[in-house]
Amino acid sequence: MALGTASTRTDHARTVRELLASGERSYSFEFAAPRSEKGERALWDAIRRIEAVGPTFVSVTYGAGGSSREGTVRVTERMATDTTLTPVAHLTAVNHSKAELRNIIGQYADVGIRNMLALRGDPPGDPMGEWVRHPEGLHYAADLVRLIKESGDFCVGVAAFPEMHPRSTDWDTDIRYFVDKCRAGADFAITQMFFYPDDYLRLRDRVAAAGCDTPIIPEIMPVTNVRQIERFAQLSNAAFPPALAERILAVKDDRAAVRSIGIEYATELCARLMAEEIPGLHFITLNHSTATLEIYENLGLHQRS
Ligand code: FAD
Repeated sequence: MALGTASTRTDHARTVRELLASGERSYSFEFAAPRSEKGERALWDAIRRIEAVGPTFVSVTYGAGGSSREGTVRVTERMATDTTLTPVAHLTAVNHSKAELRNIIGQYADVGIRNMLALRGDPPGDPMGEWVRHPEGLHYAADLVRLIKESGDFCVGVAAFPEMHPRSTDWDTDIRYFVDKCRAGADFAITQMFFYPDDYLRLRDRVAAAGCDTPIIPEIMPVTNVRQIERFAQLSNAAFPPALAERILAVKDDRAAVRSIGIEYATELCARLMAEEIPGLHFITLNHSTATLEIYENLGLHQRS
């Protein structure tokens, strides 16, 4: 059987490309690769709660190596075979030869997965370190987009950066390489998390000005505890609004109050974005479903399901 033509149930679901082309908005949720059996059980509790609201798709981040990668593949495949959900399978070029990448793409195709997110990934150890490709691997995400597209009839997403990729030196180059990924065949993009709506809107306008109309879905991550303020900045380079940090720090010993401020801010961010022509929203769950589901409900999206 050719890759991407498996005849399992997920074949019947529309791809993200088809859904966006119909003018519908996509609402999706992202989970992290589980690190332990206990973590995997908690992850499945969250997945089942998200399944109940009928999202457009769900995804699991591709781990940096070893068991976390196996966890990504296992959970993503199970989403395709044991749930009503449409998985978008993350894949990175880190430490993989082209043959290994083709093998993983084939595994996904065998369980009927038709949507993938093609990422270069970060250098293992130091995300800001120098990128060194696998000797028989790929240089950039654009190469992975091409490899996936050559392997079968897949819908492919890529990453976008509202505050520029941290290793990019200027906006013109950053946008040029982003547009390269789209011209390589990407059907949609999902952004890195951000906290100012204008960062997303400026990126969208820059990409449009470069003659590219690939839909860019904004990624939303609510702050639910004080530690995340520092952690988010380290992980994503996203500028954290000082006024939001101040509000959270003023109630730092009251966990419920911190969480409620984070959810309120994320809800307002989503509402502001939904007033624009965005193709959808992608929520990071950190494997807990409750905060993102609260935002979903605040936005009146529960009624969709
Ligand atoms: P690329 O598009 O290849 O870009 C990487 C850098 O190279 C950029 O600075 C770009 O401008 C530059 N560049 C691109 N093409 C060229 C070229 N031809 N010549 C010179 N320079 C070039 N990481 C994981 O490990 N697992 C995940 O599951 C994961 N999921 C993610 C999901 C989303 C929505 C996002 C936004 C990021 C995710 N990441 C994940 C992180 C991502 O892998 C890193 O941010 C990585 O540094 C960039 O990946 P990319 O796919 O954008 O790379």
